[in-house]
Amino acid sequence: MTALAQRTGAINLGQGFPDTDGPQVVLEAARSAILAGANQYPPGLGVPVLREAIARHQHRFHGITVDPDREVLVTTGATEALAATLLALVRPGDEVVTLDPTYDAYTALIALAGGRHVRVPLAPPDFRLPLDRLATAVTDRTAVILVNNPHNPTGTVLTQAELAAIVAAAEQHDAIVVVDEVYEHLVFDGVRHTTIAAIPGAAERSVTISSAGKTFSLTGWKIGWLVAPQPLRDAVLTVKQYLTFATGAPLQPAIAEGLDQPDALFVGVRDRLQHGRDLLAAGLARAGFAFAPAPATYFQAVDAAPLGVADAARLARELPEQVGVVGIPLSAFAAPEHADLYRSWLRFAFCKRDTVLQEASDRLARLA
Ligand code: PMP
Ligand code: GLN
Repeated sequence: MTALAQRTGAINLGQGFPDTDGPQVVLEAARSAILAGANQYPPGLGVPVLREAIARHQHRFHGITVDPDREVLVTTGATEALAATLLALVRPGDEVVTLDPTYDAYTALIALAGGRHVRVPLAPPDFRLPLDRLATAVTDRTAVILVNNPHNPTGTVLTQAELAAIVAAAEQHDAIVVVDEVYEHLVFDGVRHTTIAAIPGAAERSVTISSAGKTFSLTGWKIGWLVAPQPLRDAVLTVKQYLTFATGAPLQPAIAEGLDQPDALFVGVRDRLQHGRDLLAAGLARAGFAFAPAPATYFQAVDAAPLGVADAARLARELPEQVGVVGIPLSAFAAPEHADLYRSWLRFAFCKRDTVLQEASDRLARLA
């Protein structure tokens, strides 16, 4: 869809990446680190200042105590954390349970690990987790329950009860819970995001993955991390050692600086995005799409059915020519057997400047 946006000159609200840079203090810290000579292989675990900043971050924002030497691993984006975790924990034939629609990398990485992908469909229009379907999907064949919370592409934030059900299923069947929390700071309207390790019983069987990309609008830096009990962290490290060995040296102390910034920085990022969401929502509502404002992430999911659209994938292909905006059909993230559930749904990114969102909003409103 990004290629389509480039070809047609349409506003690209498909792929989720911001069009402004991250905080100056973080950019400056990277420049200083480069000039100070942080340019050779750093330790495979990640530089101590970043691991310590991650531990402080987990305590400040989530009330979780972690040991920066034993329970933290720095990775090349959340993507490497996901890849190394699945390759470490999934043997060929093991099952991995995810929530549909599923972020595309999960599907590919489960296949790379030789796992069998079992998907529990979140139910539109509010995308809650059907607990009965979760209970039947998780079995003794399940090695990993892999969850994205907050959830791309629906924008959903799982409730404590949903998280507790996931942990209970994992305990019952001795599975590991892997939670991708890259959107942990991008949660709106006073909604609360609970990290998985705060759920009783989860800390000892979970891997928590996050990334600086979204929080600091630095998606091109690819600095991610995971937090897990030492045996799990060490298992993942054995794979990371031969995937990348180590992660961008000068960017690590810069992200440490970012993680230690006052709360106002995190609140500012969140509030700007919430404002962007609302700008875009105005046009989407005028066009006649049905949706509830996304409680989190970069993305607004909308139902095109009220516009008389049955196939959102087709609408997505036509939108660039029709009004000059690109979005992504939700069915692209779903298993073929679940695609019908999301057939009329589209995802639009709102991590863009006000002027861009206003223009996109006005263009979309013309669909009315
Ligand atoms: N997980 C989810 C759910 C995402 O949306 C993204 C976004 N790009 C990633 C992981 C990848 O993060 P990173 O760029 O840090 O690898
Ligand atoms: N996570 C972002 C999205 O869902 C983009 C990442 C990518 O393009 N792989 O749009």
